[in-house]
Amino acid sequence: MLKRAIISAGLYGSDLVRAHAWARFARGRGVILTFHHVRPPADEGFAPNRLLEIAPAFLETVLDTLDALGFDIVPLDAVPALLAGPEPERPFAVLTFDDGYRDNRDYAAPILAARGAPWTLFVTRDFALGRGRFWWRELEEAVRRSPRIRHDGLDLPARTDAEKARAFDTLYWRLRAGPEDALRSATHRLAEEAGVDVAALATGACLALDEIAALARDPLVTLGAHTLTHPMLAKHDVETARREIVESRAVLADATGREIRHLAYPVGDPGSAGPREFALAREAGFETAVTTRPGHLFAEHAGHLHALPRVSVNGLHQSAGALRALLSGLPLLAWNRGRRVVAP
Ligand SMILES: [Zn+2]
Repeated sequence: MLKRAIISAGLYGSDLVRAHAWARFARGRGVILTFHHVRPPADEGFAPNRLLEIAPAFLETVLDTLDALGFDIVPLDAVPALLAGPEPERPFAVLTFDDGYRDNRDYAAPILAARGAPWTLFVTRDFALGRGRFWWRELEEAVRRSPRIRHDGLDLPARTDAEKARAFDTLYWRLRAGPEDALRSATHRLAEEAGVDVAALATGACLALDEIAALARDPLVTLGAHTLTHPMLAKHDVETARREIVESRAVLADATGREIRHLAYPVGDPGSAGPREFALAREAGFETAVTTRPGHLFAEHAGHLHALPRVSVNGLHQSAGALRALLSGLPLLAWNRGRRVVAP
């Protein structure tokens, strides 16, 4: 019944979103999990980007839970065949890490190696070159250091942690809704006015290309492209979007000597990656491309390998119970309501 509904939805355009709404209500053949930072938690009251990081011990919990629930952890390369072939006996899980953070190598890689778990690192060129724009971190630091935030007619108090959290959320969503250049200039200005060293935020946060090349010699590691500058692709003209997709693949292949077969769309929500981007990724020769639209993977996704949903492991809910619920496929709708499961 569920599957028939998914098939009849056709899985195109807005139908794809509707199909995902159905898919949320049951476990599929497998799931692609999204991670960002893996590192010991900092003790901070105001931490609006905390959802983007988990503790190393929780990564162990994730692996234990997958094992207990009977999931096979497989490389991303295996997904097309697992979707197109006969129903596998056990569900599968793919582990993906976005942006190329240094802590993925330092904290996650040893845990994954000890378990023999394959994983994929999605690399953004400018982050690897130490010159990327972590605009969500710029905004965080600006709000942390400012007692009051003024922007575009807004005048927001930011003295207490609670006020800071509200100011961050208000600004975050206001800026996310607008053009990307306005967002980037606003977070840069606010950070500079607050005395933040913007360049320092980009220095050393991510692995350099030679470090990525060394990491990729590990057979458990698959590299994927995550564009040149980490834009919300759908907000840009087609030539910019195509260049970001095509050249990031070439840069990463040249730097590492590895074939790059997978793409993750930055931010990855419908406002950042839509049918045009799915077509561009297919044209560029990627075997798969992943979004941040929440959902499990079903056989029907074999025909839509450049619009694959993922399930974000949210740092605000680091418990085995929350994870079991996510892996059941049942609560994704509620889980993902609200902001920033779709954050960078
Ligand atoms: Zn990203």
